[in-house]
Amino acid sequence: MVAEDFIRFTMGRQKHIALIAHDGKKQELIAWCERNKEILQRHFLCGTGTTARLIAEKTGLPVRGYNSGPLGGDQQIGSRIVEGNIDFVIFFWDPLEAQPHDPDVKALLRIALVYDIPIANNLATADFLLHSRYMEEEYERKVKNYNKTIAERLEILGK
Ligand code: PGA
Repeated sequence: MVAEDFIRFTMGRQKHIALIAHDGKKQELIAWCERNKEILQRHFLCGTGTTARLIAEKTGLPVRGYNSGPLGGDQQIGSRIVEGNIDFVIFFWDPLEAQPHDPDVKALLRIALVYDIPIANNLATADFLLHSRYMEEEYERKVKNYNKTIAERLEILGK
């Protein structure tokens, strides 16, 4: 079966941005959103429960809220990435605090890499990403073509 090794997903000019911050990092993310309101309001925003609520309340930006992180919010965001409905992530996880949902955090970081999603884990990266020229343009992400992998495995396993 002839198929490409990778599939390209086109990110539109308007990005679907997920915003997540652990408790020790929430103030940092809220202040960052306030500073970058002009740009952020041109995109679609969502986030884990508490983070989304706080950003919406403090900045007035519309932020769709998923469940709180420890109750599966990170997993919901991961699944939206898989479905192609989130294409940009700002995730300020706290390197100085243990989290009860650490496996979910790891899972989200991993799936973001698998789907070639721009993901910022600190202020400086968030600044560089948000001020990239690609924020105003379409961009093609490159993702491994699992249909090809599945077809190849079926061929091997079916023997
Ligand atoms: P929260 O979840 O926005 O509900 O606090 C964030 C997280 O801990 O992943």
